[in-house]
Amino acid sequence: MFTPITGRSVVVTGGSKGIGKGIAAVFARAGAHVLITARDEAAARRTAAEIAADEAVTGRISAIAADVSNEEDCERVALTARERHGGIDVVCANAGIFPSTPLVEMTAADLDAVLGVNLKGAILSVRACLDALTRSGNGRVIITSSITGPLTGFAGWSHYGASKAGQLGFARSAALELAEAGITVNAILPGNVLTEGVAELGDGYLKSMAASIPLGRLGTVEDVGNLALFLATDEAAFITGQTFVVDGGQVLPESLDAVAG
Ligand code: NAP
Repeated sequence: MFTPITGRSVVVTGGSKGIGKGIAAVFARAGAHVLITARDEAAARRTAAEIAADEAVTGRISAIAADVSNEEDCERVALTARERHGGIDVVCANAGIFPSTPLVEMTAADLDAVLGVNLKGAILSVRACLDALTRSGNGRVIITSSITGPLTGFAGWSHYGASKAGQLGFARSAALELAEAGITVNAILPGNVLTEGVAELGDGYLKSMAASIPLGRLGTVEDVGNLALFLATDEAAFITGQTFVVDGGQVLPESLDAVAG
């Protein structure tokens, strides 16, 4: 049994849907106070209300509109979390976009958009919370990266892959800088996770994707949320600068023949 994180203050960027919503729900059920962010304020508020309605949730959960690529928005998120929850113990830098763009057609604006949200946005989100994380004594930074970029590639996602690999470069150096303050910095690398957006791709896509995953299914948002929760516990205090793949074994096979069955 892990030491409860009841009452800890958690910021989840991009918490209105998908993996971020899953992370927020797992933390809220564990008794943490959670602030979720997204650009669409109405959607973020609806998600906060939905999570709060779960009778297993004992912490406070609320929402704020903010764009992670905007420095002032990130500062406002940190200030709001401190005002509402008395500090910040955990930052889950999760917000991300993944438009598909062939390299030959990629514009500087396409690059700015993807790197601005995924890479710059993660760094700005963390930096804005540093003061509060230092005061916490249990400071945790948890970045939602991806297998795409650090471990695998996907045609059309060269900018996305670069942003996700870049997040790991950030995490490693930040882990060294922040160790003195007792703040750990780790990254989760999800494989294919069943989110609302992925579900819309249809049964055919889901079946073919599940067939490429040795454990036979796509991940759930809770699969990612549960790892984030572990990384936030006192028992994970000695883990920093590391990457954790959550993909049902998807990156393991050397070829189709390598998979049993
Ligand atoms: P999603 O369902 O599309 O949700 C993305 C979330 O990020 C939403 O809350 C969205 O809300 C928010 N967001 C997007 N741009 C933002 C911005 N500029 N500022 C603030 N919030 C922003 O995506 P997801 O699939 O859950 O992905 C979440 C993270 O997991 C991403 O970093 C992604 O790269 C990573 N990931 C996902 C998978 C997967 O299979 N789903 C696999 C590997 C890694 P608004 O649009 O309202 O801002």
